[in-house]
Amino acid sequence: MTAAAGLGAAGLAAALLADASTTAVTAVAGVVAGLIAAVSLLAGAVRIAPGWRHQSAAWRWLASGTAAWAAGVGVRPLAEGTPFMLTFADVLLVVGAVLLAVGSGRTARRRAYGRSLLHYATSAYISAASLFAIAWVVLLAPLYARSDEPSTLVSPVVCLLAACAVAPAALASRSAGRRVGIAGLAALTAITLQEIATAMARVTTGGALSLAAGLVAPLAFLLLAAAPWASRARTRPVRAPSSVIVEGAPLVLAAVAAVVLVVHVIAKGSERPVAVLPFVVASVVVVLLAKVFVLAVETASMRGGLDSSERRLIHLAESAGDLVLVCDHDGVMREMGAGVEALYGYPPRELVGRSIFDYVHAEDAPGIQAALKTLTADDDLALERQSACRVACRVRAADGTWRPAESVATRHPSEGEDLVLISTRDVSDQVALRNQVAHLTFHDGVTGLPNRAYFEERTREVLARRGGGTTAVVFIDLDGFTGVNDSVGHAGGDYLLSQAARRLRAAVHSDDTLARWGGDEFAVLLESGGSGPSAGSGTADAQSAIDLAERLVRAVSSEPFRVADRDIALTASVGVAFAEDGVPAGDLIRNADVATTRAKELGGRRVEVFAAHMHADVVRRLELAADLQRALLAGQFAVEYQPVVDLSTSRVTAVEALVRWSRGNTLVPPQQFLGAAEDTGLIVPLSEWILGEACREVAAWRASSWDIGLSLNLSSRQITAPRFVETVEAALAESGLPASALTLEVIEEMLVEDADEIVSRLSELRALGVRLAIDDFGTGYASLAFLRQLPVDMIKIDPSFVSGLGRDETLTLLTRTIVRLGHDLGLIVVAEGIERPEQLELLREMGCTRGQGYLVARPMAARGVDSLMRTSLSPLQETA
Ligand code: C2E
Ligand code: CA
Ligand code: CA
Repeated sequence: MTAAAGLGAAGLAAALLADASTTAVTAVAGVVAGLIAAVSLLAGAVRIAPGWRHQSAAWRWLASGTAAWAAGVGVRPLAEGTPFMLTFADVLLVVGAVLLAVGSGRTARRRAYGRSLLHYATSAYISAASLFAIAWVVLLAPLYARSDEPSTLVSPVVCLLAACAVAPAALASRSAGRRVGIAGLAALTAITLQEIATAMARVTTGGALSLAAGLVAPLAFLLLAAAPWASRARTRPVRAPSSVIVEGAPLVLAAVAAVVLVVHVIAKGSERPVAVLPFVVASVVVVLLAKVFVLAVETASMRGGLDSSERRLIHLAESAGDLVLVCDHDGVMREMGAGVEALYGYPPRELVGRSIFDYVHAEDAPGIQAALKTLTADDDLALERQSACRVACRVRAADGTWRPAESVATRHPSEGEDLVLISTRDVSDQVALRNQVAHLTFHDGVTGLPNRAYFEERTREVLARRGGGTTAVVFIDLDGFTGVNDSVGHAGGDYLLSQAARRLRAAVHSDDTLARWGGDEFAVLLESGGSGPSAGSGTADAQSAIDLAERLVRAVSSEPFRVADRDIALTASVGVAFAEDGVPAGDLIRNADVATTRAKELGGRRVEVFAAHMHADVVRRLELAADLQRALLAGQFAVEYQPVVDLSTSRVTAVEALVRWSRGNTLVPPQQFLGAAEDTGLIVPLSEWILGEACREVAAWRASSWDIGLSLNLSSRQITAPRFVETVEAALAESGLPASALTLEVIEEMLVEDADEIVSRLSELRALGVRLAIDDFGTGYASLAFLRQLPVDMIKIDPSFVSGLGRDETLTLLTRTIVRLGHDLGLIVVAEGIERPEQLELLREMGCTRGQGYLVARPMAARGVDSLMRTSLSPLQETA
């Protein structure tokens, strides 16, 4: 609307042209257009949203510039012809131009000309100076030369300076601000042109300005008036001029200015030089030099920035715990991160110039060499694919330790040289953790030895790559360890095991694998080729395995273990199995185990070598155990009773209960199945059954007023079974058998080995009134003196002594001694295994009071005892 009004005013002014002077017309047009523009710009400034303060201010500056200029144009006709060198109107015009320039330049983007204000200022100055120089030479210089009143040039010169100063900023400004800048610049250019025209008119025609020239500025102002109202939608974001144009334009302008100056000098010869030009040229040169200097400084600082960003990168890597170094393709270190000092203890400077291979484990060197080689590959494609290499290696620290590290190597072109940047991370902690986990998985916490899982794996490995040599597994089982936990507690038991492990470790060769198999069992793997001085021939190898096994037995039993202020003497049963071709690891280990069991059965503290039949024995035994279980349920067991008689009166004083197993049609003797029953624990329920059965029978015979006692054999497992004493008590109570009629037989070894618990249980029973007997007396270790300390009522002389009576003088003497000693100690002495009459005679003569044997009576079923009782005759009398 305002634009329309402006155009209307212009039309009005044109209509006045017919009879008014040209000067008046142009003055009126200038005033009207200027005022319209000022009002429009002010209105535009008010309309602008508060967020755009800069733009609003720019419009206001332009408005005031326009108003000042309009005023100048308005008063110019009045001021014309005054004696003042510079008219009042000229001042207003100059002020208007300056205000317009400020408005146009306000929105210029400071950064449009480059990175710094200095850049912008120098570029703007060079552009402005060049434009000015060209305009001066082409337009103003001729005027100046002809003018006798230089003041007429003030206004055009100021306008030109203002336009030149603002042009670079206005052109380089962006988006919304650009509209203000360009509108302002257009108005400035228009008034500059009009002022130059006016000056030319003043000089040439004495003041009369052509109408066309006089309407340039008014028209430009009308356009300026429309500028704030131009559609916003059309002001698309304008791309910033490319940096080539921004940087290049001032230089192009300077070059054009130089050409114009040269052409001018050549064309005009030695005409009076134009006063201002030397200053302009000199200033441009100075500014150009300044610009070059700034550029040089900036380039240097850019390079510094590049360096420092590289340093920052290295610092960043090092603060993340990585060590960064640069080396060439031969591994010679060129730069070294400061972190190397903290990480490996080397001062960085000491390393520069040395080869990384001096610090890397020899075994890892080939991997690193290969990585460096891949990074040097000439083939560009290969390079792209292999721009980074990962290498794991061990690094020697200054303290001499090897530290595991993981590195990434990348190409690092530097000053024309192709180097390698290596970032290294110390992974000692991770590796230690991994090792610890592996250790926990494959080691036993109590002894620190490898565990069963490790041993099995290792045996598999060794057998898989076995050559011709001997491979053997040696199994060690501690005898009598079962009671240790009970007597010294589990911690004490563990402590003993760790001591045992140390002794075994000391006995085996360092190449052999010693492991804790579990519980009180250990295992040794002897590898092919053998160890020790006898390695070589197969038999020598086998012998060295046996030697080792014997060493292990000695290591355990040589001296007692000291646990909780107590000495605990242990022995070991050791089994050896040799690997045959193609034997699976599991079988080899099992064979050694079988041999160990055999060594234990044979009394322990010995070495057994696995033989094929042992395995068959084990299988048979397992079958036997299963059969026993079924037999107990099926009631296949029976009790036989062997009478014990008073040798002087031949009266039956007691019966010994002996268990029988009728397996199918055969009667299996107790020696053949009791071991298996003991191993499987079946002995406990079986013995309970025998106890109840025998107590009932004997109680029944006693009820028929036959004064008869009962002897029962005990196994150690039975005695140590929970509630053993209560079981005996219950059997006595149930059957009504008096405790004094029951004699419990134990063999000597039970009272010597694991003595504590068994002796205390037996003492409890004895307190109930039950009698105790030592069975098979003379075969074990119990010394005669030892007898005194034991809660015993009876000894049963072993048949091996009785069998020699009358034939072997030593045995006869020994028997006599035992009988006498027994009597001296107040014990009942029973002779077992009496088969011949002369044995009976001798025993009677020695004063032995009781006897048992086939000569007296064979073991018999309960019915047999019944008839024996009925005849009431002593079997001795019958035979006699
Ligand atoms: P033991 O306790 O020494 O039993 C005596 C063994 O000698 C019996 O063998 C018996 O039959 C045998 N015998 C008796 N008189 C003579 C003889 O004049 N000449 C010969 N050569 N042998 C004679 P049996 O019944 O085979 O028992 C063997 C062993 O089995 C017993 O030796 C005992 O240690 C054990 N035993 C038997 N029954 C039981 C039982 O119920 N419980 C336990 N724990 N062990 C038992
Ligand atoms: Ca017995
Ligand atoms: Ca016996």
